[in-house]
Amino acid sequence: MILVTGGAGYIGSHAVLALQQAGYDVLVLDNLSNGHRELVEQGLKVKLIVGDISDRPLLDNLFATYPIAAVMHFAAYIAVGESVTDPGKYYRNNVTGTLTLLEAMVAASIKHFVFSSTCALYGNPKFVPITEDHPQDPISPYASSKQMVERILADFDVAYGLKSVRFRYFNAAGADPGGLLGEDHEPETHLIPLVLLAALGKRDSISILGTDYPTEDGTCVRDYIHVNDLAQAHVLGLKYLQNGGDSDVFNLGNGSGFSVRDVIEAAQKVAQREINVIERDRRPGDPPVLVGSSDKARTVLGWQPQYADLTQILTHAWQWHQKRHQ
Ligand code: UDP
Repeated sequence: MILVTGGAGYIGSHAVLALQQAGYDVLVLDNLSNGHRELVEQGLKVKLIVGDISDRPLLDNLFATYPIAAVMHFAAYIAVGESVTDPGKYYRNNVTGTLTLLEAMVAASIKHFVFSSTCALYGNPKFVPITEDHPQDPISPYASSKQMVERILADFDVAYGLKSVRFRYFNAAGADPGGLLGEDHEPETHLIPLVLLAALGKRDSISILGTDYPTEDGTCVRDYIHVNDLAQAHVLGLKYLQNGGDSDVFNLGNGSGFSVRDVIEAAQKVAQREINVIERDRRPGDPPVLVGSSDKARTVLGWQPQYADLTQILTHAWQWHQKRHQ
């Protein structure tokens, strides 16, 4: 059985589905601060434990009760802007909470851990596409919190033989084409869902947060990666560990960059609607360009993204948003 923390959230729920499709038994731990109960219990039909990763007695009890062989850890706060204004929240949950989870795993002799990290820990890129050995210089508490956990994981491997795969995601987007799952944060801060909510008339406009970046059109450039492709990578990462693989880190992206303006334009085409665009100031913590090389994940894990095209990513996201808000 695989314990998926944050399995009621966006990426975690897609990973649960991918694990089920690969034949794994899954248990979800989620405090429902951002996740959705009905998605897990009725949609995915998986047992949900409502609780927190920092609740050590609960974790000890879970590890004693269920035959948990490995943990996939998605439970985290993820808003870059909020992390700048409320850093304590990010360090407490993302770092201290994860440390509690890891210590409980060590006590229960669970040795395999798949971690949801971020390309944001590279900071402002010195070269693109970014490879795993690119220097790290996080510019937000969110990114620092993920970097700290990566460090802890390296130390826990040395001390306790806890083996981990760390995935540094570029920008997760899209939705399972089956229509069951999608992106639904409250409050929503991510570009693609916000653009699509504007296309649906649920929001008045989309704001471009910064038009004076040193990029071709002045807006930030990101590497958007389909959430199903991320989920598949997690299954491959788990299998890699279960086959005796050593701890390692992998970027997950498509290797092509799209500006905020590119995304808005492509979304208007997919939705076949005009979207009202407002240009605003930069949001703190945003590097101008994040585009990754995922050659290592392809070579070592055999990862092969299925939905690398931005229009396809937007189409799946649009289908989900239309269904969600019909
Ligand atoms: N962004 C934007 N308007 C929004 C939300 C985001 O222009 O309403 C920009 C943001 O500044 C960043 C890019 O879109 O450059 C992607 O942001 P998102 O929050 O989706 O992902 P992040 O890169 O922060 O993980």
